[in-house]
Amino acid sequence: MQPADLNLFAPSPEHAQIAETVREFTLREVEPQALEHDRAERFNWALFRRAAELGLLGVTIPEAYGGAGLDATAAVQVYEILASSDPGFALSSMAHAILFAHNLAVNGNEEQRRRILPKAVAGKWIGGLCMTEPEVGTDVLSLRTQAKRDDDAWILDGTKTFITNGGIDENTEGDVFLVYAATGERELSTFLVEKGMEGFRLGQKWQDKLGMRSSFTAELVFDGVRVPARNLVGSVGEGTSQMMRNLEVERLTLAAMSVGIAGRCLRVMLEYANERRTFGKPLREHGQIQRYLAETFAEWKAARTYVYDTARRIRLGEVGQRVDADATKLFAAQVGKRAADAAIQVLGGYGYMGEYVVERLWRDAKLIEIGGGTLEAHHKNLAKDLCRDPSQVG
Ligand SMILES: Cc1cc2nc3c(=O)[nH]c(=O)nc-3n(C[C@H](O)[C@H](O)[C@H](O)COP(=O)(O)OP(=O)(O)OC[C@H]3O[C@@H](n4cnc5c(N)ncnc54)[C@H](O)[C@@H]3O)c2cc1C
Repeated sequence: MQPADLNLFAPSPEHAQIAETVREFTLREVEPQALEHDRAERFNWALFRRAAELGLLGVTIPEAYGGAGLDATAAVQVYEILASSDPGFALSSMAHAILFAHNLAVNGNEEQRRRILPKAVAGKWIGGLCMTEPEVGTDVLSLRTQAKRDDDAWILDGTKTFITNGGIDENTEGDVFLVYAATGERELSTFLVEKGMEGFRLGQKWQDKLGMRSSFTAELVFDGVRVPARNLVGSVGEGTSQMMRNLEVERLTLAAMSVGIAGRCLRVMLEYANERRTFGKPLREHGQIQRYLAETFAEWKAARTYVYDTARRIRLGEVGQRVDADATKLFAAQVGKRAADAAIQVLGGYGYMGEYVVERLWRDAKLIEIGGGTLEAHHKNLAKDLCRDPSQVG
């Protein structure tokens, strides 16, 4: 194959097929419900189950557990396209399929995978990842949730907050979570906590979020939860390395969501600039509007290319692309936010109104500068990694 023949965005017929399936699903089923669920601050369960039927919850999960066993490029395609329509639904799906299921597929043992992954892939259970606490976010090694060994179990005490998929409704916690807890001085271990375990309950549902309102964000309380020893993931003390192992694909799929947001904003802007006339000519002929269109296009294309190029190089379950995983998210998150801002500006007053979509995307875009690592966390990681190994710059 000649280098010019490589399609970075769909490198194989299988990838082209996935993109087609997700596009069709997004157009016919995701888009029509997006504004309504944003306004109601409600997660769409029926849509989640449809995504499962189409195989979208198990794209990277090995076939032995019901998934498709595909690569990071396939995952990026799914979240780019879903987020172009409903970033809140994309976030919940991603928290379930990547933060939870993919993480367990990589770090769990065979018994855990067989017991849990088929249910997660089929959308029978919804899962999430519990890292953040009321007093600790970025400084993850300082987290306060503790796990103490007691015979054949671990006793978990603590509170987690801002957990995507934390609840099924206002009274019921989600089904299954990977929970990071301290098992020693600056030592983390990972536990599987399931709905129904005594002492495990839903705290508050976060209401009135700025964006991502169609995803369910909650506080989860662990009050002396007795977690059977078989639910320890990997070995004691492996929590931090497990976190690192999953972080690359987590950050990359979040970056892909920003790319999806930017691409949608660009399409909305172009259509409007062609149709709307002011001062006797189409908007597209005004220099200041041209600047929004051109800058957004260049940034969107650069972010998209960087995300897919990094996806091509990521080996799922291994580390090695941390610099690019951080940098793609650092860059794409800001591109997504700027694109949504530009789109509102180009549409003027209409851009400020819900039915024109870009105001919702503007609110949703901000989350990606915070969740999965803040911009400042990426600055810190990148500066450290690059100064340690300047040869990364070539
Ligand atoms: C909608 C939503 C969904 C989420 N979903 C999940 C989830 O599913 N699971 C989960 O575990 N978490 C989730 N989070 C939490 C998210 O990952 C954290 O909010 C994020 O990691 C930041 O932590 P924090 O909010 O505690 O901020 P803090 O860590 O308290 O930081 C506050 C500010 O200080 C900056 N800062 C902190 N330390 C430094 C430093 N050393 N140098 C410079 N600046 C610094 C930060 O960048 C930030 O700007 C979610 C959050 C939201 C809003």
